[in-house]
Amino acid sequence: MKRLFIGLIVALIGVQLYAQEREYVIVVHGGAGAMKGLENNKAKAAEYYAALDSALTIGDAILSRGGEGPEAVMAVINYFEGNPLFNAGVGATCTIDGTFELDASIMEGKDLSAGAVAGVKYVKHPINAAYAVKTKTEHVMLAGEGADLFAKEQGLETVTDNQYFATPKTMKWIEELKKESKKNGTVGCVVLDKQGNLTAGTSTGGRFKKQWGRVGDSPVIGAGTYADNEGCAVSCTGHGEYFIRHVVAYNLSTRVKMLNQPIEKAADEIIFGELNAEAGNGGLIAVDRKGNIAMPFNSGGMHRGYLYKEKGKDKVVKAVGIGQTMKVLP
Ligand code: ASP
Repeated sequence: MKRLFIGLIVALIGVQLYAQEREYVIVVHGGAGAMKGLENNKAKAAEYYAALDSALTIGDAILSRGGEGPEAVMAVINYFEGNPLFNAGVGATCTIDGTFELDASIMEGKDLSAGAVAGVKYVKHPINAAYAVKTKTEHVMLAGEGADLFAKEQGLETVTDNQYFATPKTMKWIEELKKESKKNGTVGCVVLDKQGNLTAGTSTGGRFKKQWGRVGDSPVIGAGTYADNEGCAVSCTGHGEYFIRHVVAYNLSTRVKMLNQPIEKAADEIIFGELNAEAGNGGLIAVDRKGNIAMPFNSGGMHRGYLYKEKGKDKVVKAVGIGQTMKVLP
């Protein structure tokens, strides 16, 4: 009897520790990079703030009515992939020979199910193809031609011309490939839904002037994307090779799960410790099961935003940022 009582108390404390304090949370990023002077360029900054706000609003509409993490993550990333401001879908950066090879991945923390595509050239929304790999195949990642073919077979929207992803800006880069120019704007989204589950997704055109065939961290589960309900949901952006070598997304989730590190401390240790030591530029967004958020970056800036609803409150809290400061939105 006494044992049963103690057991009950322990179970209750356990439930309390894992209880959700925020009803739902959504965090987005639109890429990390140097972003010199962007914050002070009022007109340009306003465009980014508005886009981040729109992404958060799209996620909020789904999560507030009880929609689940994958639905919110996909809708947000579909929006980013259609927005030429970001390095994903239309507006993606190109390879050294001027083609567009797109990467994306998605993962659910409740069952560790995951899907990814690498180097697709004709899928309008690579994140949808990643989700289809997760839900319709027994695999985790499909690459290149096979991935493009699979997406087509699944009835996903495809384009006939790879240059569909070009914008006037990327066309100019293609012409000036020999000159140094860069684009940062990989997109990502992590969510804690009302059901208490975590989801993470990332989509990108990769690194500017990448060798064709190069695959970065974004579609690699554990490197650029990871979600585990007992750890956290993570989406990374930055110099992918470093993020792969430090297995950043899994690294963070595992610090939270196994070492019980607070998410912000763990994320800082990776971004400012492990990566800084090697000049690995970039950042990440993450959320844990209680709704705690981390958004560190060691680059000049990172397009980012968060939105959450506290339990028992009506109003959501929303903020967006580019450089060091966050701007709270009404
Ligand atoms: N991490 C991406 C890659 O290396 C690029 C980025 O986030 O800017 O492919």
